[in-house]
Amino acid sequence: MSALDHRDTEIVAWDDVLAEYDPAMGLEVHVELNTHTKMFCGCPTEFGAEPNTQVCPTCLGLPGAMPVVNRKAVESAIRIGLALNCEIAEWCRFARKNYFYPDMPKNFQTSQYDEPIAFEGWMDVEVEGETFRVEIERAHMEEDTGKSLHVGGVTGRIHGADYSLVDYNRAGIPLIEIVTKPIMGTREKAPAIAKAYVAQLRELIVALGVSDARMDQGSIRADVNLSLAAKDSGALGTRTETKNVNSLRSVERAVRYEMQRHAAVLRSGAQILQETRHWHEDTGVTTSGREKSDADDYRYFPEPDLVPVAPSREWVEELRATLPEPPREKLARLQAAWGFSDLEMRDTVGAGALGLVEETIACGAAPQAARKWWLSEMARRANDSGVDIAALGVTPVQVARVQALVEEGSINDKLARQVFDGLLAGEGTPDEIVAARGLAIVSDDGALGAAVDNAIAANPDVADKIRDGKVAAAGALIGAVMKEMRGQADAARVRELILEKLA
Ligand SMILES: [Zn+2]
Repeated sequence: MSALDHRDTEIVAWDDVLAEYDPAMGLEVHVELNTHTKMFCGCPTEFGAEPNTQVCPTCLGLPGAMPVVNRKAVESAIRIGLALNCEIAEWCRFARKNYFYPDMPKNFQTSQYDEPIAFEGWMDVEVEGETFRVEIERAHMEEDTGKSLHVGGVTGRIHGADYSLVDYNRAGIPLIEIVTKPIMGTREKAPAIAKAYVAQLRELIVALGVSDARMDQGSIRADVNLSLAAKDSGALGTRTETKNVNSLRSVERAVRYEMQRHAAVLRSGAQILQETRHWHEDTGVTTSGREKSDADDYRYFPEPDLVPVAPSREWVEELRATLPEPPREKLARLQAAWGFSDLEMRDTVGAGALGLVEETIACGAAPQAARKWWLSEMARRANDSGVDIAALGVTPVQVARVQALVEEGSINDKLARQVFDGLLAGEGTPDEIVAARGLAIVSDDGALGAAVDNAIAANPDVADKIRDGKVAAAGALIGAVMKEMRGQADAARVRELILEKLA
């Protein structure tokens, strides 16, 4: 099916979906670890190198090459498992997952099958002030594939391309796949809970320091499994798996869309096809991918070239001691330190801005100022351009500097918004943008005095009122001065000058 067919797909109105069906979700999140070397060889993992320069016989799957497990990757996997309240296996093996794909040079992926390193955990997710427990089935270790580049087509997809290139630099980079149990009973909150789960998992990964955790660069990728069943039946319907949903916003939208699409298929009397689907960020729909194989089609078997992984209990306890503060305790501590209301804290978390606000405050901004810029100005711009707030391209250091400029009196809030425009346009640092765009506030009496004289001359009636003691009328003259000076006048000094001149 081509990407063009989806415009005809029917969906059911949201309220009708909820009246007739209950959703069940399953979320699979892949986290690319930030180890310096690959999972089973010593090749470097830096992003953005020339294609096929970070490869060796092992990650290219050449005959006779022998893999060796990366201890740091196992350590990160255990720490992720512990942070998700999982059991850690005393003994587990890797398994070969057999399938052919051009960007997978070995024709199998080294993964874990029935013996994951971590299993049976949970994470509490906060949505609109309520806590929802998401149960974790497993977190297992595996390796990434290479990347195919399809050249000549319009969309970058293989369809219509003249030829394809493969880059194996990514092949063999360690991944942790975190799989939830079916998430039931979420009803109308399903999209929000899915988004909150991925957002809080991302925060946890950041706190653990085990990954760059950049959704926009694919170092965290979410697959969304979804099914519907008749309302209150408690049954599980046939599921679809929407692959590689690359932003928090898209996770929410993809769940909502698939619920509406499933409902349309079920209402028509047809059956849901168990398949993978592609998410289209631009149109907000999913399209059919391939029919989903059952596990036995992969002919999993234990990897014969690798020794089992048997982490000692002492090592596991040592790693447990390195875990960051649990998310809920951290939230309580930050809320107390920042003096945020419950609603302010909830909005900050909900916008995916907790870490950004925290860093901005660490750079010297007052908590309420940091919150204000991220939740009003940055959230709006991220929403306008359809990206997550963390992917906007403005950093906490920059926001803290803009706020410092406001506090120094160099700019005001209105001018600060223009500085943010400049930051998004890549015009340099906040100070460079203030200089280049001429945004600094004028408090020099010479320039201000001339503008005040003009305002008085143009508004004789207002000036008379002020002379008669109606000081409140000064606002109209201040407005006229601000307009003449394009908002860059020191309002307090303007007011003083007006009152002096009309005394
Ligand atoms: Zn290698």
